[in-house]
Amino acid sequence: MGKKKKPRKEEAPKEEKPKEKPKRRKEKAAKFKLFEVGDEGRVKRLRPYCPRCGPGVFMADHGNRLACGKCGYTDFKKTE
Ligand SMILES: [Zn+2]
Repeated sequence: MGKKKKPRKEEAPKEEKPKEKPKRRKEKAAKFKLFEVGDEGRVKRLRPYCPRCGPGVFMADHGNRLACGKCGYTDFKKTE
């Protein structure tokens, strides 16, 4: 008598949990870096305003230059 291969019981595949995507840092926090609150509750501006867009629109610091994300104005820092 030949051995009959028993059909393997197919186990129900385990439900794979959806891999959690690594949470990206919310860029929201960066916005608050534009201000720095001093001891006396005074708010210091850490970024200059865009001369074109006026107060309220900050320039982004790109290391050697400041750029406005709204109008594209770029102000190169003077390096000595
Ligand atoms: Zn601007």
